[in-house]
Amino acid sequence: MQLRYDEDFIEAAVFLCASGRRKGVPSLQIARFHREREKLYGILDPDERNTAFFKLHLDWFREWGLELPLTDVLKEFPLVREQLGALAVRKTTGKNDEGAELYVNETGQRTGLLALRLERLTHDAALRDYLRHEFTHLHDMLNPAFGYSPVLDLPGLNAAQKRLARERYRLLWDITIDGRLAAAGHTPMQAREQHAAAVARGYSFWPEQRQTETFSTLWQTKAPQHAEFLALIADPRGLRDAHRPAPGASCPLCDFPTFHWADASVLPSGMVSRITAEFPAWSPAHGICNRCAESYEALTATVGSPVALH
Ligand SMILES: [Zn+2]
Ligand SMILES: [Zn+2]
Repeated sequence: MQLRYDEDFIEAAVFLCASGRRKGVPSLQIARFHREREKLYGILDPDERNTAFFKLHLDWFREWGLELPLTDVLKEFPLVREQLGALAVRKTTGKNDEGAELYVNETGQRTGLLALRLERLTHDAALRDYLRHEFTHLHDMLNPAFGYSPVLDLPGLNAAQKRLARERYRLLWDITIDGRLAAAGHTPMQAREQHAAAVARGYSFWPEQRQTETFSTLWQTKAPQHAEFLALIADPRGLRDAHRPAPGASCPLCDFPTFHWADASVLPSGMVSRITAEFPAWSPAHGICNRCAESYEALTATVGSPVALH
C-alpha cells in the first residue's frame, strides 16, 4: 500500500509545526525550515518550484514526526495495508467531512481516503486513537466477512427515514469499533456509557432489556456484520415518526452534530415558513437542533410576520 499526501495537507501540517502549535519542535529547526523555503522561491520554473516545495514540506513533515502516527497505527492493520492500493491523506475542507472513506474504481482497485482536521496533529496520543478508529472502519469495509455495501438497501423508506436509518447504522458500527478498541486496551472515541446512552435514546421504543442486550452484544462482538446492522436499523418503529433524529446526528440546518433536538412537530408556522424560505428542501420531519430553533424563534419574534407590520 502506498501512502500519499495531498500537497495542501503537508504544507499546512508543516506550518502548524513551524508556528509552534505542536510541542517539541526546536526553534533552530524552524528557522532552518524558513531559510530553506525562502531559497526555493528562486526556482523559476513553476512546476519545478512546486515539486521542490512539496519535497521540502514532506522532508520536514517526516523530520518533525508527523508521519509516525500514521505509519505506526497502519502497522496494526495488515488487511488494510494488503487490500488498499493507496491511502491518500488530505485535510478536511468543511466541518463534516472528516474521516476515512473507501473508493473502488472500475478495475476493482481500492483507494482509501483519509480526511484529517489539522488540529488533530497537535496531540499525538489522541491522533493515534482517532486513526485507529478510522482505520477500523476501513478494515471492516475491506473485510469480506463484514460484507460491506456502500448502499443501504432500505426499500419503502422515505428520505427522512433513510437519513435516520443511516445515522443508526453509523451509531451501531461505531459501537462495535469502539468496543473492539476498548477490549484491545485502546482508548475508544466514545466511552461505553456514552454509546449505551445513545442506543437507549435511539431505540427508546424497545424495552430496556432489549436495549441493554443489543448494546452489550454489539460492544462485545469481535466480528460485526453489515447484514446485522441492516436488520437493526430497519426496525420501522421510531423510523415512522422521524421527527426526532438520532442523538449526535447532524442538524440539517447548521450541519453541526447535536444531542439536543427541538420538538419539530410543534414549531409555529411562521417559523417553519421562515426556515423553508432559506432551506426549501427542509421539512419539520428532518429535525432541527435546539440552537437553530432558538435563533429562528428570535428571528421570527424580531422581524415578525410581514402581514402583521401594518
Ligand atoms: Zn466511526
Ligand atoms: Zn442546527
